[in-house]
Amino acid sequence: MLRGLQNSHDSKKKKTTEATLDRLSARRKTPAGVYIALVAAYLITNIVVMLASRSKAQVPFLGGTIPITAFAGVFSAISEICVIFMTFYFGKKGYFTALTLLIIQFPAVMTTTFIQHNRTSLPGIFVNVVSIVAITIIYINNKKMEEYQKKLSYQAVTDILTGLPNRFACGELLRSLVEKGDKFVGVSIDINSFKGINETMGFETGNAVLREIASRWKTIADTGLSGTKDFITRISGDEFFLVIRGYSSDEDILRTIKQYDSVLHNRLTIDDCDLYITASFGYAEFPADAKTKDSIISYADTAMHEVKRSSSSNHILRFTPDMLKTERTLEIEGKIREALENETIFFYLQPQFNMEHKLRGFEALARMKNADGGFISPGEFIPVAEKVGLVDKVDGMVFRKAAMFFGELLRKTGTDIILSVNVSVRHLLKNDFLDEIGNVLRESGVPADKLEIEITESIMIDSVDKALQCIDELKAMGVKIAIDDFGTGYSSLSYLNKFPANLLKIDKSFIDKMNEDDSSKQYVSAIISIGHIMDFDVISEGVEEPEQVETLKEIGCDFIQGFIWGRPLPQEEAEKLVTEEVGK
Ligand code: C2E
Ligand code: MG
Ligand code: MG
Repeated sequence: MLRGLQNSHDSKKKKTTEATLDRLSARRKTPAGVYIALVAAYLITNIVVMLASRSKAQVPFLGGTIPITAFAGVFSAISEICVIFMTFYFGKKGYFTALTLLIIQFPAVMTTTFIQHNRTSLPGIFVNVVSIVAITIIYINNKKMEEYQKKLSYQAVTDILTGLPNRFACGELLRSLVEKGDKFVGVSIDINSFKGINETMGFETGNAVLREIASRWKTIADTGLSGTKDFITRISGDEFFLVIRGYSSDEDILRTIKQYDSVLHNRLTIDDCDLYITASFGYAEFPADAKTKDSIISYADTAMHEVKRSSSSNHILRFTPDMLKTERTLEIEGKIREALENETIFFYLQPQFNMEHKLRGFEALARMKNADGGFISPGEFIPVAEKVGLVDKVDGMVFRKAAMFFGELLRKTGTDIILSVNVSVRHLLKNDFLDEIGNVLRESGVPADKLEIEITESIMIDSVDKALQCIDELKAMGVKIAIDDFGTGYSSLSYLNKFPANLLKIDKSFIDKMNEDDSSKQYVSAIISIGHIMDFDVISEGVEEPEQVETLKEIGCDFIQGFIWGRPLPQEEAEKLVTEEVGK
């Protein structure tokens, strides 16, 4: 049925895929204004030639005089150039205009020469005949070149295997649609298990499958069967990209995609074998989901990969921003695994000071690098590590490396500072957590009372009892406990009361607001007071401004950690800081 439809709609076909391809492969046209200017220039120069050749006047030139007739030749040359340009730049239209302009001069010249017996116009006839020959040669050559060029341009936008528009054509169409600003949908399509067909039945069969699918889809696009204006392209291998325009609702979009999906369900027989083909469709709409050509392609791809990943029965999905998260999560997970394997997760040390600017110690902060050498923020990779169950390994690597460095630093400098490490709840709740801490302390030679473990308050909500038991044992070993990011999670006084911590870390968000209004300042002041009542020391995180230091001194804060006095430092710089401090 589809083949029948294809034939009966041959004429319409030219209006769809091919018409769009023609437009995409068309050469840039010389503006019509140039054509009009050339015709006008030709007519004017001819009038000037006529007037100049009849004039007996003399004009001053380079100190002497010359007859005006001498300029007739110059203007005549300009007029010949005009007809040549017309033919060269305006193809058929230019050639026939030039030809007409040259031919209509013949009767006038004939009359002057043979009836009025004025033979001065005879060379003009000769020039005209030569011009006609020249423009005819130019026209014929140009035409051949144009045909060749057209063929080349057409090939540049066509996929050889399927005859569909190719990746370049798709990109060009998307670019022009984005420029225009009208809404459209980009659908990324991937044939499921196509690799299997190629591997089990050979490339020839694989190619035949692609050709057949392409032909079915092209029929829909060319006949307008879907009710929308579609443009189907083959990007590479088994990847296709469909552009849908002329829809008025989300239902229209889905109906069109389902139409492309449904023709795959018709039996596909190749080399006497029945094949059952399915595909995954992911789409994004311009400008609602994506605002650039590249993001349309990439978001539609993301949605298509989500179909493959989720292996749900729904094989048509629209892009949503959460899908990016999933993709990014997968990417980061891969990087974490690689970094753990290669032991490339490392640490920076951020100094903590008392209010007299004396060094209290360092917080070890995990660092991980991208392939390009840039950092991936722990704010991004720690939550992923937590989600995929790798955070204990990350914590562990940071702890071990930082403790080895710190033990060495203590021995070298004899300093009396502490090392603070972040531990996530998953890590804390592991059965061998305490053994791990004990082992690292032994190996690194860091005394237990020089180690502080930072735990975020929110983690206590999940498994309070087990966590508290673990914390008690850490305390029994002599290890210090800090409550990190205080104020951002579950802050209950009764729970604080049970928490055997040594240090309360006020979250940066409170410090940021502290000097904005009096109530925020009172709030920080209240946290400090409560901390002191509970017998905790209090440190403020993220201190950046001198005014914040002043306020914190005024309201009785004990320590400061922030960019104002120290950013996270690489080992060597941290060591330099300690050496300077010891030498004071
Ligand atoms: P955190 O434990 O609250 O660490 C403090 C964060 O605040 C660090 O960010 C630090 O660079 C940043 N910071 C300190 N002072 C300032 C300041 O004055 N201004 C600003 N804008 N930022 C400041 P970082 O290193 O990006 O770490 C982010 C979070 O990642 C940490 O917050 C911690 O929750 C987590 N993290 C880092 N390393 C580890 C680790 O080894 N294990 C675990 N479980 N979590 C870690
Ligand atoms: Mg911390
Ligand atoms: Mg914090």
